[in-house]
Amino acid sequence: MRVPLLDLGEQYRALAAPIRQQIDEVLQSQRFILGPKVEQFERALCDYIGTKFAIGVSSGTDALLAVLMALEIGPGDAVITTPYSFFATAACIARVGATPLFVDIEPETFNISPEAIRSFIKKNCHHANGVLMARDRQAIRLIIPVHLFGLCCEMDTIMEIAREHELLVIEDAAQAIGAGYPQAGEVTSAGAIGDIGCFSFYPSKNLGAAGDAGAIVCTAENLATRLRTCRQHGMEPRYHHQFIGGNFRLDELQAAILQAKLPHLAGWSAARRAAADFYREEFSRRNLGDSIILPAEPYRERAGNHHIYHQFVIRAVARDELKAHLSSNEIESEIYYPVPLHLQECFFYLEHKEGDFPEAERAAAETLALPIYPELSREAQRFVVGKIAEFYS
Ligand SMILES: *Cc1c(COP(=O)(O)O)cnc(C)c1O
Repeated sequence: MRVPLLDLGEQYRALAAPIRQQIDEVLQSQRFILGPKVEQFERALCDYIGTKFAIGVSSGTDALLAVLMALEIGPGDAVITTPYSFFATAACIARVGATPLFVDIEPETFNISPEAIRSFIKKNCHHANGVLMARDRQAIRLIIPVHLFGLCCEMDTIMEIAREHELLVIEDAAQAIGAGYPQAGEVTSAGAIGDIGCFSFYPSKNLGAAGDAGAIVCTAENLATRLRTCRQHGMEPRYHHQFIGGNFRLDELQAAILQAKLPHLAGWSAARRAAADFYREEFSRRNLGDSIILPAEPYRERAGNHHIYHQFVIRAVARDELKAHLSSNEIESEIYYPVPLHLQECFFYLEHKEGDFPEAERAAAETLALPIYPELSREAQRFVVGKIAEFYS
């Protein structure tokens, strides 16, 4: 039985008519850039996330980049972030000339560890004129936590640290659209917890466009205005450039397709959670606790399950051999991410070495993402778990 990591075909077939209708409307209008579809989608996204402003942009990477440019982060600045994420998170910091300051992750959730942020600041930083300074006279301006695999970071503590040191918090919520975080008896959506949230609609993300697309959300109007200007080369009014932005626009076709899909996202997330629950049942039935560790759901008891399972990532003994075994049985799996960011060749100049962030390195060596998507059949899941049990037997 062939089990792909992700199969978008069924989702498309179910929504083909409304999606084609949307595409047709855009083609009829011949309006392709920043028109009514982008505005409608931005409003719908605000309602979904529970924020005041949404700015559609060209990708998740450009969402992060536009935020850093709009906030004038640059040479002499530093940004605290995780070494265990997709490359774009740290790359955007470096692209504007600032320095990524990595701190290690929590082994249970794979997310940036608030305790590690605290001890990093305590050990390496001091205040000068009210600004938090790192070594080499860099001003620390932001924290960029990444809600990895669809699970929110421990944001209460991260926000507390940020407020204490007057840092802004930019959530990289590229993998976490619709994920929830329990706050004061309620559940806040990923992207609406910090000062600014960034989303990606890359086709394989939980809400996927038919190409590249992304969005930025925030509640402060001055930030929203600046981000909107940044999306159009820092231009306001026309042909007058206040600062250097970029072409970070979301196009009408992508916005129209995303708008057709957004009403289904909550249902898809619920189906992913149900699939995750079923994996749990199957794994526990087979007593594989000595060989694998299942993904943590730290907020479930307090606030219900708000993980959106962008990925279902296990830790596995003999991970590479397990992956090969699955592959020989036509089961796809993936390693996110085999090389942590601090050990990437392009960041050698930061002078990190193996052992600097042991939990990120251990995660890179031990984790494996199993197939998960809303339409994944229980039969396929049983087959996957059966083959994993076979490997360890
Ligand atoms: C996908 C992703 C991005 C980048 O989004 P793109 O739309 O591919 O540019 C950034 N950060 C994380 C954590 C991601 O998973």
